[in-house]
Amino acid sequence: MDCIFCKIANGDIPSKKVYEDEMILAFHDISPMAPVHVLVIPKVHIENVDAVTEENSKYISHIFEKIPAIAKVAGAENGYRVITNCGENGCQSVMHLHFHILGGVKLPEKMA
Ligand code: 5GP
Ligand code: ZN
Repeated sequence: MDCIFCKIANGDIPSKKVYEDEMILAFHDISPMAPVHVLVIPKVHIENVDAVTEENSKYISHIFEKIPAIAKVAGAENGYRVITNCGENGCQSVMHLHFHILGGVKLPEKMA
């Protein structure tokens, strides 16, 4: 499958890693929108939130168990924002589920 984040997860495309274990990978966004901009992905291909099931939801709970430590090690002090874009109106550009961690600055109050 021609999925850029599957290739990052299996090491075919290099990334600046922040955290990795057997289920998930966190790495710096190539085009950061804040001083801290990390992406967290499951190592298995899940397209987006619409594709979360009883069978694969353990990856999502594991991601959220690890997000506080990932945000801290990436340098997001005093809070951060977690975002996932889903589908066309959500402006999802990479069709492999990922959570943006944005921080390192006071973020705009308006989310959209
Ligand atoms: P989306 O718009 O799908 O929510 O977010 C995709 C994100 O992936 C964007 O913020 C984009 O900068 C990032 N991105 C796309 N390709 C690469 C890549 O090859 N490496 C890294 N590190 N980030 C990428
Ligand atoms: Zn994928």
